[in-house]
Amino acid sequence: MKSRKKLSIFILTLTILFQVSLAHAYVIDSLPLFWTQNWHPHVTLSSLENTAATNAASTWNSAPGNLKFSKQTQSSGTIDLSDTRNDVAALNFSQYEFLPNNFIGAIYRQPLNGTTHRNFDIFLNRDYNWGDGSSPDYFDRQGVFTHEFGHALGLGDVYVMSTPVPTMYYDGTYFSYAMRTLENDDRSGKLEIENRLNNK
Ligand SMILES: [Zn+2]
Repeated sequence: MKSRKKLSIFILTLTILFQVSLAHAYVIDSLPLFWTQNWHPHVTLSSLENTAATNAASTWNSAPGNLKFSKQTQSSGTIDLSDTRNDVAALNFSQYEFLPNNFIGAIYRQPLNGTTHRNFDIFLNRDYNWGDGSSPDYFDRQGVFTHEFGHALGLGDVYVMSTPVPTMYYDGTYFSYAMRTLENDDRSGKLEIENRLNNK
């Protein structure tokens, strides 16, 4: 009788562990201050890049939940990482000290405090070849923008590979095109951010 009880507890623990690991294939590392985050296509964006960024933001808007991105007028001038204007730009990272040369895209989120960010700026690295689709010769603009907009929501990089490849997988080297479409973990991550915002 005693050993039987022990066994059922063991099974229960295993089940819980298994479910927990399944439920956390997303990472949340910041909460946005605003439910709707305005963003500006910076003048450095080509029209193709502008379209790709717009589609990327719309992809997150279309996922279940109430967090939104709202496109504003074109911005120009210096991009200030700490101002309240959220710029989306394309630059040659090699020409800027603050941008990591070996990254194809980057985002800077300005923290308001330990758990919340007030604003963001997104950058596409012009030092690499860009295109529209799946190819070994270039990276897919829209896919990488979708990944970076996911960070703007507050999601972190996911280091666990699964199929289909989640948008928030950390490495876009081979999977930039796959990052265009949100997977279950990406959508769950967005909803969990909303859940945490509602319970703040
Ligand atoms: Zn990332």
